[in-house]
Amino acid sequence: MTTPIDLRSDTVTRPTPAMRAAMAAAPVGDDQYGEDPLTNELQARVAALLGKEQGLWLPSGTMANQVALRVLTRPGDEVVVSREAHAGWHETGGSAANAGVQLVEVGARGVFDVAALEAAIKPRGLPVYPPTTLVEVENTHNRSGGIIFAQDEVVRICALARSRGIASFLDGARLWNASVASGIAEAELAAPFDLVAVSFSKGLGAPGGSLLAGSRDLIVAATRQRRMLGGAMRQTGFFAAAALHGIDHHRGRLAEDHANARCFAEALAAQRSVELDLATVQTNIVVLRLRAGAIDAATLVQRARERGVLVNAFDARTIRAVTHLDVSREQVERAGATLVELLD
Ligand SMILES: *Cc1c(COP(=O)(O)O)cnc(C)c1O
Repeated sequence: MTTPIDLRSDTVTRPTPAMRAAMAAAPVGDDQYGEDPLTNELQARVAALLGKEQGLWLPSGTMANQVALRVLTRPGDEVVVSREAHAGWHETGGSAANAGVQLVEVGARGVFDVAALEAAIKPRGLPVYPPTTLVEVENTHNRSGGIIFAQDEVVRICALARSRGIASFLDGARLWNASVASGIAEAELAAPFDLVAVSFSKGLGAPGGSLLAGSRDLIVAATRQRRMLGGAMRQTGFFAAAALHGIDHHRGRLAEDHANARCFAEALAAQRSVELDLATVQTNIVVLRLRAGAIDAATLVQRARERGVLVNAFDARTIRAVTHLDVSREQVERAGATLVELLD
């Protein structure tokens, strides 16, 4: 069988020959002694790109989020997040297990406004309430279909948080996509937040790695938490080389992924059995609902697989498709046509 067109996630990409060459040629050292040259370069470069004092490489975005929670909260605290935030839905309970916090979801479709944050903040000084100590924004928002968080609202949210002594964290696993699609520089998107996470293994196509950026003090604390969680590695330069290559060569092309996602979404939105608001297709993710009476998600996923197209089912009626470096416009068109045929 020919290679399937894999739209399950932008994490399925394999390093390109040029990325593999950069990895193979990487000079490396023991990062626990601060002696891995490319990790040091990557941390400095991405911290500067995000307008923060210092950066810290971590093996995964999940660990970056968990470390951020442990640095910015104490067990028993409450954290305000968007509906269906990655931290609550895709980290297998880690926020409760590792940081001991409870997450409160607010807003709708992956975003919320400053009034929703204000309403969710528990009053301080009453012994029955957990203290609200952190607000987290996810930009772009994964489960809501790669939605971009409006930056003027981000500024208001973080200003309110600061005025109430609440820390702020940006889960920017796909901040690169948000920046390319909005035309707003990463540093501006990151500016209102105390701590920011970005990923190298999604749109940039590296085989692994994320980074936390913030003030020197927060990164010192994060470095300890990374080690405590078992994420302190040694010759990380092989990963850093891949990340640097992705930043230099794959960041600009994200616009292609966005155009491909739109092309796929337009084909499917025209179907009567599909519920898909094209206004939600802002970057490289398409989340669509199958109407009652239409084929269910599990069956559609199975039949599409038999025809060489891979997509994910989020629930019985929700499908997610993600475009990336390893799928061309032609393949995305073919995948769209295959799903349309199966829906008929
Ligand atoms: C993928 C993702 C993560 C976690 O990254 P991993 O490297 O897969 O652990 C965190 N946040 C968001 C929004 C993501 O989409």
